[in-house]
Amino acid sequence: KRVEVSQAVHGIDPKLVDERALNVVSTLQQAGFEAYIVGGAVRDLLLGLRPKDFDVATNATPEQVKGLFRRAFIIGRRFRIVHVVYGRGREHEVIEVSTFRAYLDNAAAEQVAGNEKTSRSELAGMKHAVDSTGRVLRDNVWGPQEEDAVRRDFTINAMYYDPRNQVVVDYHGGIKDAKKLVLRMIGDPATRYREDPVRIIRAVRFAAKLAPLGFKLDPKTAQPLVKSEALLADVPQSRLFDEMLKLLQTGHALATIEQLKLLGLAHGIYPLLDVVVERADQPFVKAALQDTDRRVGEGKPVAPSFLLSCVLWADVRDGWRQRTEGRQRQPSFPALQDAIDDVFNARIGDVSGRGKLAGDMREIWMMQPRFEKRTGSTPYSLVDQPRFRAAFDFMRLRADVGEIDEALAAWWQEFSMANDDEREGLLEQAR
Ligand code: ATP
Ligand code: MG
Repeated sequence: KRVEVSQAVHGIDPKLVDERALNVVSTLQQAGFEAYIVGGAVRDLLLGLRPKDFDVATNATPEQVKGLFRRAFIIGRRFRIVHVVYGRGREHEVIEVSTFRAYLDNAAAEQVAGNEKTSRSELAGMKHAVDSTGRVLRDNVWGPQEEDAVRRDFTINAMYYDPRNQVVVDYHGGIKDAKKLVLRMIGDPATRYREDPVRIIRAVRFAAKLAPLGFKLDPKTAQPLVKSEALLADVPQSRLFDEMLKLLQTGHALATIEQLKLLGLAHGIYPLLDVVVERADQPFVKAALQDTDRRVGEGKPVAPSFLLSCVLWADVRDGWRQRTEGRQRQPSFPALQDAIDDVFNARIGDVSGRGKLAGDMREIWMMQPRFEKRTGSTPYSLVDQPRFRAAFDFMRLRADVGEIDEALAAWWQEFSMANDDEREGLLEQAR
């Protein structure tokens, strides 16, 4: 049941639409294709929020889309989508364009998509799921808009907005649910969680994000969450790690922790997330979570290394202390290094591609004892470290919760901003 909803009913303020997204839609439509703003951006527009990014859905294939724009790149092997790029450097903006996809409600297809060892005969049984070489194409089976809508998760995430005639196309009562402040999974929730268990985490994320507006998960959507949680064991660790970061770094970390507890999901989504939830009431971790939410709210960048180094600091500190005590005690510096290694092994594991993250966390921790040395050239070299700011912010939080002397944090604050003359004076004063 395709419903077209006019501006008078949905009330979207066209001024909130990004002009580059509008440009992508117009270009596609003028070339004779269907094109709409889709997904989270429509949801946020409808709720009067400024979307953080704009996705476009079209019936043009990725190649056709690419051909229409000067700077467009087809990305992804499994999900082939097009990135249309505007502007350069820090200010650049990417509009993600995806082709309407079919809904294959064959739950097995989802599994096969991730499993290359499936036999050819099994694959052949799955309509459209593979090409002649056996390559899995399941996620690239194009389909009509109606099917593209069914495969989406929540009703409020499955609307299409044409910014030119200002019509919202709604197949699943998203407008009605938005008015009723209901987060409702399309179709049978338990089945949808089985198809893709990450939807369990997404339910928590949107519940947290929209709670301040008064949204609640529909009871039928919430009910199977707990018994579906075990399905997450089959999701690759790296995807879970990324979803965890989205829970913690999109400005609703504290609300997310509240929802996790409320929904009975405080434990078992991902080991590191369990630690975050367990420690969310500790002053240092709480301050870090609050700080992260505040920064995102102010549009400032946040680094996962900062938050995670705060969450795991208690382990590092304990291990460090233990290693510098007793009969086999180590000198302070190698003790800290070894304590950090232990924490990575115990808490992070080897999620591939986390090299940079781990490196940044290590630097934040390793710089902490160096803040205590305020003599000679040490302070000069410290402020010039690329990670100084993060390490300083970390130390600042330690001072805020009374772990170190407030005066030390104040001194470094001054020193980092001072000119050469003033710095000499500060060093004199610290002697
Ligand atoms: P955010 O504002 O946090 O980006 P979003 O709704 O835009 O929220 P995305 O992860 O950017 O979330 O996904 C864009 C859209 O793709 C969603 O609105 C939804 O329609 C669809 N989608 C994404 N992930 C899934 C999933 N796992 N299952 C079904 N649909 C999904
Ligand atoms: Mg999005």
